[in-house]
Amino acid sequence: ALFQEAQFFISADKLTDLPPPSGIEIAFAGRSNSGKSSAINTLANRNRLAFVSKTPGRTQLINFFSLGNDRFLVDLPGYGYAKVPEAMRVHWQSVLSRYLMERESLYGLVLIMDARHPLTPLDHQMLNWFIPTCKPVHVLLTKADKLSKQQATSTLRAVRTELERTYPNCTVQLFSSLKRVGLDEAEAMIGKWLSA
Ligand code: GDP
Repeated sequence: ALFQEAQFFISADKLTDLPPPSGIEIAFAGRSNSGKSSAINTLANRNRLAFVSKTPGRTQLINFFSLGNDRFLVDLPGYGYAKVPEAMRVHWQSVLSRYLMERESLYGLVLIMDARHPLTPLDHQMLNWFIPTCKPVHVLLTKADKLSKQQATSTLRAVRTELERTYPNCTVQLFSSLKRVGLDEAEAMIGKWLSA
């Protein structure tokens, strides 16, 4: 419901191609195959706003979606796909780190993690780049439907404890695009950011 007005706006593969910073951007980041595209599509209530990847790591672009009124969702390239050539990995590491650290119009980061494999070293890397900005992070533990209720609850608790210990200004929730779990909670957080 929140993003029903989302329209594809622009793609960029380097920082100099980004639109001028204005208004409010909410970025989505995550390992490739973490369920990032599915989460964006579920929140946007569309099937293919963000293209759900059949080949992980194939498309490497920063995709901007306009919500109108100078509000944007930004789909960052998935990271951690082993078969990406080294030069491209280095390029995206540099683009992601600088985007997260320096982008003035970036308001908050939605970090997508597969609930079965949360807080990988690369997820920590993203947090380490972004946390010094003091901007908020909201973690979606996706594919929660693949865990039992008990596993999901203990994963949520463990991730929350770890984030509280290491990173201030971070919230975390369970999410499932397949079973449509956690939509209200995610929409409330992102909606709050967008209306700042
Ligand atoms: P991305 O590479 O991070 O954008 O991940 P995708 O959204 O393309 O999803 C990767 C794979 O995980 C696809 O096969 C999806 O169907 C699957 N997937 C994504 N979200 C969920 C979910 O909530 N539950 C389950 N069971 N599978 C999911």
